[in-house]
Amino acid sequence: MTNVERHAYDVVVVGAGGAGLRAAIEARERGMRTAVICKSLFGKAHTVMAEGGIAASMGNANGHDNWQVHFRDTMRGGKFLNHWRMAELHAKEAPDRVWELETWGALFDRTKDGRISQRNFGGHEYPRLAHVGDRTGLELIRTLQQKIVSLQQEDHAETGDYEGRLKVFQECTVTRVLKDGDRVAGVFGYVRESGRLFVIDAPAVVLATGGIGKSFKVTSNSWEYTGDGHALALLAGAPLINMEFIQFHPTGMVWPPSVKGILVTESVRGDGGVLRNSEGKRFMFGYVPDVFKEKYAQSEEEADGWYADPETHRRPPELLPRDEVARAINSEVKAGRGSPHGGVFLDVSTRLSPEEIKRRLPSMHHQFKELADVDITAEPMEVGPTCHYMMGGVDVEPDTAAARGVPGLFAAGEVAGGMHGSNRLGGNSLSDLLVFGRRAGLFAAEYAAGLPAPERPAAGEEQIDEAAAEALRPFGAEAGDGGPDAGDGGSGAAVENPYTLHQELQQVMNDLVGIIRRGPEMERALQHLAELRVRSRRALVEGHRQFNPGWHLALDLRNMLLVSECVALAALERTESRGGHTRDDHPGMDRTWRKVNLVCELAGKDEAGHGTAAATAPTAAGDAAAGPGTARAEDAAGPDGAAGMSGASGPVSTGTAASVSLRRRPMDPIRPDLLDLFERDELLKYLTDEELDA
Ligand code: FAD
Repeated sequence: MTNVERHAYDVVVVGAGGAGLRAAIEARERGMRTAVICKSLFGKAHTVMAEGGIAASMGNANGHDNWQVHFRDTMRGGKFLNHWRMAELHAKEAPDRVWELETWGALFDRTKDGRISQRNFGGHEYPRLAHVGDRTGLELIRTLQQKIVSLQQEDHAETGDYEGRLKVFQECTVTRVLKDGDRVAGVFGYVRESGRLFVIDAPAVVLATGGIGKSFKVTSNSWEYTGDGHALALLAGAPLINMEFIQFHPTGMVWPPSVKGILVTESVRGDGGVLRNSEGKRFMFGYVPDVFKEKYAQSEEEADGWYADPETHRRPPELLPRDEVARAINSEVKAGRGSPHGGVFLDVSTRLSPEEIKRRLPSMHHQFKELADVDITAEPMEVGPTCHYMMGGVDVEPDTAAARGVPGLFAAGEVAGGMHGSNRLGGNSLSDLLVFGRRAGLFAAEYAAGLPAPERPAAGEEQIDEAAAEALRPFGAEAGDGGPDAGDGGSGAAVENPYTLHQELQQVMNDLVGIIRRGPEMERALQHLAELRVRSRRALVEGHRQFNPGWHLALDLRNMLLVSECVALAALERTESRGGHTRDDHPGMDRTWRKVNLVCELAGKDEAGHGTAAATAPTAAGDAAAGPGTARAEDAAGPDGAAGMSGASGPVSTGTAASVSLRRRPMDPIRPDLLDLFERDELLKYLTDEELDA
């Protein structure tokens, strides 16, 4: 029996970004004893880094805006692959969530007549992003934390205990969701500072762990974003969807190398920044795809006129959705028209005065001055695509945020799939966190309240022992057959350094499953990933359990490898280009693929839905035999082929040795009243004739 610290709560929220905090507030307000766990310091999450703003159709800057327009923009941005019900709930509820933040103390920038100011962003028809300069995420988190403190003060006044009903466990990493049969029973993890192991028993767990960017070499993401929640869900038996769709933000810093990938907010373009190549050409006019031609300006004159008079001018092409701009920049650089350090030029200095730039974009001004010695009030920035956001994630019920197939598991925020389809619009993440964070907290609380103590699931000791052994394995990794001290002994395999493995993984994903993808390259990536998976079992760390980053990384590697395999499998399977998935060998968007969701599941699940040891920790022999793509559907079948839609909900093929299996599932048909919000001509670009005539 493993010695672990043990606590019991009604609801456990894993992640303290916007989604996690909003979920925790809701669960606590519904009377549930709630724990929030976060990997880093409380307050340090990607949400805090969000710059541009929260998208909500409040109509403050343009009275024509409403939820229907926001819904349309979101579906167009996601190329109609979004789960329409999530997009509907999001568009309808986002304004209430922003108002609510204000009542909790958020101080948004104001219009001249005192309303919440809203700014332009790519893909949004009207100025829609409520913001606080370019530090909106900071204000959002500050406000949610303040709300948590106020709830704790209420609890103290009533019970004498600040943390009796709502407690934050910071710098703790969850490594397993525990189960009792098919139901959630709690979480297992370790305290980063002390290395102590802990269990929190709880019937409801909300995953709110954010993104996966650290699997890629060039990324805007910080160290925590290793796909933990995605992997935790998968390992608990929940499916992931849309994993092929990764957003490469068009504008990351490209120079100096130490800061490559750091985000340059889209607000720079929203506030008038233009993109030019090395020839000084404003190249985006050459990259407006047919589906967007009617909505975007055809000339510089028309685009420039839009800033002063949006009613009679069309939008500048710099404000196309992110996937379009990222691909355009990639093409310019590839064609030899890039900037000296392999990006393009983004210039706001010709549009706004230095004072205005410092007022509207203070963080950007500071970031470039400090990190690159560039004064953006006087000179252009050099920018290029960076891995930014994961559209794919846990397959959830749209209304309740419940993970499909695992009672008691919920997911919200970036870790959940479906809402953004194949591409997220800027600003739609912060609103997503609030809308679905609240829903996850609400339905997790309802679920937990429906289970009185005697009926609650409980994790068995054996499962806890297994989780502990897995967590401690890097201190005695399987070096060949001979254990950690065997070195090259045993079967002859050497121990591995987790940092080396991580670098190799990042290189593979960057080079072979990056912004532009090709079938044979992804086959190679899967082969590499299979090898890395075997090698990662031999990752050995030195030292002890007190704050040991090598150990932490060795554990994170399991998650990154699982998630990367999902990405590569799904990207290889989808033989079209759509949103954040671009195939050089299948360049067009194919209407028959729109109605397909690719679903990743753990291969070799046992009857209760747990991953088997063989599936989560494949043997070297098994992996070597598996080769790439053994778990994916037959390539020969097109989207409507026999192996695809006809077998709609069953696996099209499974591999025993790969970690992940892949199947196709048809999308739910879009509700007719929502389809009526679009012109038939536009729908024809996305939906098949049968879908339209159904
Ligand atoms: P996060 O805020 O990412 O929080 C995840 C939490 O999970 C953290 O507390 C982390 O410590 C914890 N965690 C992770 N793994 C574990 C584990 N194993 N155990 C315990 N805890 C764990 N979106 C917008 O809408 N507008 C913007 O302007 C915008 N700007 C952005 C700028 C940058 C630089 C970045 C990186 C992103 C930006 N985004 C923006 C995207 C948006 O910020 C994120 O998608 C969003 O904040 C994700 O929120 P979340 O609550 O899902 O997770």
